[in-house]
Amino acid sequence: MIPDNSLLGSWIEEPISPIQKISDPILVEHGVHLWLKRDDLGDPVLSGNKKRKLKNNLLALLKRTELPILTFGGAFSNHIAAVAQAGKRFGFETIGVIRGEETQPLNTTLQRAVQCGMKLKYLNRQNYRRKDAPDLQKQLNLEFGPFHLIPEGGSNREGILGCREILGEIDLDFDVVCCSCGTGATLAGLTMGLKPKQCALGFSALKADGYHQKAVTEYLKWFDVSSSSWTVNTEFHFGGYAVVRPELVRFIQQFHLQHTIMLDAVYTGKMMYGIYECIRRGGFRVGTCLLAIHTGGIQGNDGIEKRNGVLLRLP
Ligand SMILES: *Cc1c(COP(=O)(O)O)cnc(C)c1O
Repeated sequence: MIPDNSLLGSWIEEPISPIQKISDPILVEHGVHLWLKRDDLGDPVLSGNKKRKLKNNLLALLKRTELPILTFGGAFSNHIAAVAQAGKRFGFETIGVIRGEETQPLNTTLQRAVQCGMKLKYLNRQNYRRKDAPDLQKQLNLEFGPFHLIPEGGSNREGILGCREILGEIDLDFDVVCCSCGTGATLAGLTMGLKPKQCALGFSALKADGYHQKAVTEYLKWFDVSSSSWTVNTEFHFGGYAVVRPELVRFIQQFHLQHTIMLDAVYTGKMMYGIYECIRRGGFRVGTCLLAIHTGGIQGNDGIEKRNGVLLRLP
């Protein structure tokens, strides 16, 4: 199939997302300003930081050939959802290599991916950990033939450069930019876009001590950047990746009631909870201007709600 470049072009040229000032008594009380970059707006699947990362990858790959795109992710992965949706919309074949065993019925994310035409292949956790090893990739080649590979989360050079573009769209004179961290590629991209005196603060969505310290340093090294203007807070993962607790659910519900902005439970909900908690503890000096990035991920809420029997948005 020949990818439709005009559709791809109009997706990439969508207007830039706005920033929105958050008004909240707690911000006034602590003298902190909080703005939210609304990268979640637009298509619920082809938005957020997965769009930032995928965009440059697709531009680079689709110019070259018509090979299918193979990528990796967990069963609720926003990246898998985005790649599947992009394949359907722009006309290329997709293969999703999913961590863990197949469970039927498929969750909403995977069901939608299959409906988009994505082929799914499951790797048990042990093999999934070795997904970048040459012999495993050879095995995938035997099974699927030649393909373009995009790594998990879209977190390669192109992906990081896509995330760097976020701050290029910002006129606001902020002090700290905040994002949620999975692989850490978004934080690396933001760090590369900082101006002097600004810093980047990531909130880890995973329970993996020290992982981001290494990962982000390594990503920055790819670009010969040795910035120390970034840190990762590891206090607000709520027990691990995609683990949800009642206080997080209440926070997301309340944030939606108050601001009519939906957060996702895996990433941006935990980030915003962490930002509020840091503000409450007096972690930012009076007058600090925070810019939080809403990196999207709303497509995953459905699966989280069903798995945990909770509602993230009160009716
Ligand atoms: C994937 C994802 C992240 C994490 O991004 P990384 O670049 O992997 O750190 C954050 N927020 C949302 C909504 C995501 O889907």
